[in-house]
Amino acid sequence: MIRVSVSDDDVYDVAVIGAGVVGCAVVRRFVLEGARVLLLERGADLLSGASKANSAILHTGFDAPENSLEVACMQAGYEEYLDIAGRLNLPLLETGAMVAAWNEQELARLDSIEAQARTNGVADVRRMTRDEMLAREPHLATNVMGGVLVPREHVIDPWSAPLAYLTQAVENGANALFGAELKAGRRDTRHWTLETTRGRFKAAFVVNCAGLRGDLVEQALLGSSSFTIHPRKGQFVVFDKAASGLIRTILLPVPTERTKGVVITRTVFGNVLVGPTAEEQDDRVHASVERPALEALVAAAVARVPALAGMPVTAVYAGLRPATEKKEYRVQIDKERGYLVLGGIRSTGLTAALGLARHAFALYRDAHANLAPLTAPA
Ligand SMILES: Cc1cc2nc3c(=O)[nH]c(=O)nc-3n(C[C@H](O)[C@H](O)[C@H](O)COP(=O)(O)OP(=O)(O)OC[C@H]3O[C@@H](n4cnc5c(N)ncnc54)[C@H](O)[C@@H]3O)c2cc1C
Repeated sequence: MIRVSVSDDDVYDVAVIGAGVVGCAVVRRFVLEGARVLLLERGADLLSGASKANSAILHTGFDAPENSLEVACMQAGYEEYLDIAGRLNLPLLETGAMVAAWNEQELARLDSIEAQARTNGVADVRRMTRDEMLAREPHLATNVMGGVLVPREHVIDPWSAPLAYLTQAVENGANALFGAELKAGRRDTRHWTLETTRGRFKAAFVVNCAGLRGDLVEQALLGSSSFTIHPRKGQFVVFDKAASGLIRTILLPVPTERTKGVVITRTVFGNVLVGPTAEEQDDRVHASVERPALEALVAAAVARVPALAGMPVTAVYAGLRPATEKKEYRVQIDKERGYLVLGGIRSTGLTAALGLARHAFALYRDAHANLAPLTAPA
């Protein structure tokens, strides 16, 4: 299904570095807009980085930074996902979410959470009393104090969406090459020459979607990087399907500056997921799981949903967020050199990918107005 025949003489309109969810969405968007695209991925398959392990929530952006590129891309991505989900056969659990307060301090923060949601255009949020929450989720611990309902938060899955984006792109003419790590790049007046572990390729424009290695790829191409990746690990526990009847709505904590906190949610596969943690580390590749953190997650889950006590755990896993020294996405275009980076897509990239791809194409189109979108794409 994935095409791998690439001739050395081709000069592509665009080379996309990285087949995470962001890269797959970018390849799809650029191909649908009429560009000739080459995807270069260092791993043996797509999703070899951050995108292989996350919480799988399709966010409304209710708690995203106000007036940010992040919230704009999340909301554009959210809308496009819903628009194409049926056509591309993508899963969607219409769960809604409840931000739950468990003490007086958290209760006092619900007003600002609701206000931020409204500022972000998520107008259908509403306050819930303790009784309303317990009526909606009878297995919730009775010491819950109140919450905010976010009706349109949904659960998707991390893998089928990027696979579908890339499949559609390849069906419409994209070339995708795996085991092709970008090592270096040289720009002359017309195009980039990209040195990879699978050979040398040429492209007029490069989009860096290298996630956990975004800064290293920028260094390889430009000689220096405008940001540094600081991986932030998140560990998860997956309860057996027997637990799926215990919670219908995504249960969110009151978030902090640093993390959205530990979530309890069903998965599209019928399990219950608890996590993630938020742990800084230097390693960009390995995401280990550790017993004390997993036990703390189980304890936190049982404190919120007591009937989870004793439920079998069927899996544990961990993922790495491509965080940087700043909270915001690190998106920057160098029109002169034909280079765009979509970096530091920390913790909302599954939701934002389709929106980021549209944003990337809009930036690109400003510099290259001569493309004609496909009229009847597959
Ligand atoms: C614990 C956790 C929970 C999360 N929960 C959610 C959630 O509920 N909802 C949500 O929307 N988002 C969530 N996210 C965020 C989301 O997973 C990320 O934002 C997203 O995966 C980032 O994707 P990316 O494509 O930018 O990076 P990556 O997935 O890291 O993709 C980069 C790709 O580039 C490749 N690459 C790197 N260097 C090179 C090179 N030199 N040459 C060629 N290829 C290269 C890599 O192999 C990799 O495949 C979560 C993330 C984590 C870790």
